[in-house]
Amino acid sequence: MNEREEKPSSSTKKTGLVSFLTGKPIEIPEEHLFGKCRFVGEFEKLNRVGEGTYGVVYRARDTKTNEVVALKKMRMEKEKDGMPISGLREIMLLQSCNHPNIVCLKEVVVGRSLESIFLVMEYCEQDLASLLDNMQIPFMETQVFKGLAYLHLKEIVHRDVKVSNLLLTNMGTIKIADFGLARELGYPMSPMTPQVAKTQTTGVDMWAAGCILGELLLHKPLLPGKSEIEQINLIINLLGTPNDTIWPEFSQLPAIENFTLKSQPYNNLKTKFPVLSPSGQRLLNFLFMYDPKRRATAEECLKSLYFKENPLPCDPRMMPTFPQHRNLKQPLGMQQSATSAITQVLAGQPVNLYPQERQPPEPVPSTKLGISELLNSIQRR
Ligand code: ADP
Ligand code: MG
Repeated sequence: MNEREEKPSSSTKKTGLVSFLTGKPIEIPEEHLFGKCRFVGEFEKLNRVGEGTYGVVYRARDTKTNEVVALKKMRMEKEKDGMPISGLREIMLLQSCNHPNIVCLKEVVVGRSLESIFLVMEYCEQDLASLLDNMQIPFMETQVFKGLAYLHLKEIVHRDVKVSNLLLTNMGTIKIADFGLARELGYPMSPMTPQVAKTQTTGVDMWAAGCILGELLLHKPLLPGKSEIEQINLIINLLGTPNDTIWPEFSQLPAIENFTLKSQPYNNLKTKFPVLSPSGQRLLNFLFMYDPKRRATAEECLKSLYFKENPLPCDPRMMPTFPQHRNLKQPLGMQQSATSAITQVLAGQPVNLYPQERQPPEPVPSTKLGISELLNSIQRR
């Protein structure tokens, strides 16, 4: 990748690791240095495509196969004791997925230092965030619901569904990406953030899907709150003030005692989306049920009449291709975090209001990639 990632010339490498047995530094023999993973130097870095909350993502070429891939560097900053659990989770969950609407993790490769670990993924030409800013996109929500239905069936909650985490291949397939916050249900979930709902269910993703549906229809974020309280007020303005009748567990939510919610009795979805068909209205309302138990599931959304009306969902093969705005655009700022902010507020996660950093323009040759082969196993040390 770069000078620091060149393969070490010496046969052993000082790791900074100390043996529990002897108290002496451990040196790792060359043959064990990369474990079963390939060395990242086998990839030629082409350009940086995105930097989100946890990692930098590069477009790169696998020099062995000539294939263009995405390389996501795992962030390790605060880690003293090896891999961060979030990174491990991301790898394990992605590895367990095999679906056309979930981004394919092909392999994990390593750099020279123990801290440099990269996820090799199929490269997707666009993310929906940059695309939305630039042009009308045809009907593609069903693909998001298909991906979510798959994840939820596997009891995986993504927890960070937002337009910048929805990628689009130039074959027109939507891929849900960025499993940095994803969790498996059933694992004992320690409360993720104090003061908030003790458990999070698949309903969190469905709320986010509602926000995305709204964003696709409006061509701007539906509820672009800049702070938690502003976010809550926007939700209340749109959907009315929640109460124990429509959401039985509402008044027991731990954070509720810290807020006095304003009183607004009306659901204004119809006003906000005046031209949306009745079945579209029903779908949005169903996705925005305050009570997560009553909220639409992904399977239910796929059965919605809305997707049987014109314009019909677009077959991925019939999707137009788009110019690669992503590599030609400057920072997106607040817009990007809008849907995630909503999800996070409802889910009780801290809201990340920092704009996502993007790369300055670089000429990018067009690459045609189909859905990549799915790997059965990712080899790890
Ligand atoms: P983070 O956890 O840092 O948000 P993401 O996995 O969302 O990491 O990646 C950040 C950005 O990098 C995405 O919003 C997207 O623009 C780009 N990106 C991520 N994965 C891919 C990929 N497989 N192909 C192309 N671009 C990608
Ligand atoms: Mg992301």
